[in-house]
Amino acid sequence: MKEIADAGRAYDAQVEVKNLVKHFTQAGGFLRRNPSIVRAVDGVSLKIEHKRTLGLVGESGCGKTTIGRCILRLIEPTSGEVYFEGTDVLGLSGRRLRKMRRDMQMVFQNPFSSLDPRMSVLSIVGEPLQTHTSLSHSDIRDRVVELLEQVGMSGEHIYRYPHEFSGGQLQRIAVARALALNPKFLVLDEPTAALDVSVQAQVIAQLMQLQRELELTYLFISHNLTLVHYISDTIAVTYLGKIMEYADADEIFDNPLHPYTQALLSATPSLDRELRQERVILAGGVPDPANPPPGCVFHPRCPRATERCTKVEPHLVDVGGGHLVSCHL
Ligand code: SF4
Repeated sequence: MKEIADAGRAYDAQVEVKNLVKHFTQAGGFLRRNPSIVRAVDGVSLKIEHKRTLGLVGESGCGKTTIGRCILRLIEPTSGEVYFEGTDVLGLSGRRLRKMRRDMQMVFQNPFSSLDPRMSVLSIVGEPLQTHTSLSHSDIRDRVVELLEQVGMSGEHIYRYPHEFSGGQLQRIAVARALALNPKFLVLDEPTAALDVSVQAQVIAQLMQLQRELELTYLFISHNLTLVHYISDTIAVTYLGKIMEYADADEIFDNPLHPYTQALLSATPSLDRELRQERVILAGGVPDPANPPPGCVFHPRCPRATERCTKVEPHLVDVGGGHLVSCHL
């Protein structure tokens, strides 16, 4: 996607993804003899500048998490290219891949399940240091205390266990663990989705502060467009494994062009009378990625679909100023 490769040219891209594809084979039918191909990610290109945040937004089942996992090679992409600071991530193996992984970490959605309840905070946060460094036990302990304080917690918590913490505190511990090896890039996969609304803002503020202090680059994944707008510099709206719209965060919010983005925005409550717009109700759910619709994948739910949309697939094109849209309109 030349258009995406050129968007945001003013900054040095730290992470660049070109035409990423991830297909899963799903066994089906009697005796599982009729496997089908699930197109979880289907030709995604994006670019994240150093110290910036790209927000990846869309409903559940749109392939957001799979994109994040493929970038970090927690799962292997079917095809495509991933570059981190110019290095071909998919071409790495062995020691060079392990070294690269120190720079790229992930914070998972649900801290209640991502943290081992049998491990103390010292073990949880210190584990990457124990595995990847030759630090002594006391040095690891000091580093864990430092990391806890960095995420706004007391170092006195190191001997406690996950069940002794609230959801917000657990997510801070998960962030501390992700920061243990001084990464440069974090994939934040719905980091506040499992938290109370009152705690979400605190965790987001903490993440933004850490980004400034540690000069981090983020890929922020969420189904919540308002949250994504708040934290992101650029936004990519995904649907059924493809990017529907891609632009500067304010531009997406002020001037959404794709009917899917407009529907997501219209579902966002706003107290501002001028920002309130007619609610667009999307019929049905996200189609089965093993059997995507022909033409525009959004056409079965699109209120503006035409005959052409059911047959011809639109491509992501720059409609001006780096604002990319995949829609015949
Ligand atoms: Fe809707 Fe057609 Fe645009 Fe797809 S191409 S979003 S179906 S108007």
